[in-house]
Amino acid sequence: MIFRVIKLPIRYNRKKALLKPVKKRVTLTFPKRAVQMPVTYVLAKEFNVAANIIRAQVAPNQIGKLVVELSGDIDQLDAAIEWMRSRHVNVSYTLGEIAIDEDVCVHCGLCTGVCPTEALTLNPETYKLTFTRSRCIVCEQCIPTCPVQAISTNL
Ligand code: SF4
Ligand code: SF4
Repeated sequence: MIFRVIKLPIRYNRKKALLKPVKKRVTLTFPKRAVQMPVTYVLAKEFNVAANIIRAQVAPNQIGKLVVELSGDIDQLDAAIEWMRSRHVNVSYTLGEIAIDEDVCVHCGLCTGVCPTEALTLNPETYKLTFTRSRCIVCEQCIPTCPVQAISTNL
């Protein structure tokens, strides 16, 4: 009996593979009833998100505050933040914000090539720049790429 080896094409999403884990620095404020919640454990177990605690101010039966650097896949990070908010934990971004001056932008798309989280994309139908703020990690890589200085940060 002769067996033939059939080679199946390997599905390989190069764009996805190039995406690296991203980091977001956030401040978590816990209400009294949630101070004992094992947040870092749940983030690691359920979302595969690492939480590196930078500053902690937590005491039993008091409002607690943590400054943490979250690290993981961008979609998992967003899901983890949504989960914390659904548990009444206030999540605020400790970094500044990126601003795109729409009057200056010429939609050349150069900035989309350096954005590690796909926060900057060109709409395939209109060829206009789209900025998805929730994906932005304020790495500032896009700022020097813009030929018309349309991108700035408030840091
Ligand atoms: S700062 Fe610019 S390059 Fe960095 S994630 Fe935000 S939009 Fe993308
Ligand atoms: S590089 Fe500057 S001009 Fe080009 S799309 Fe980005 S923001 Fe607009």
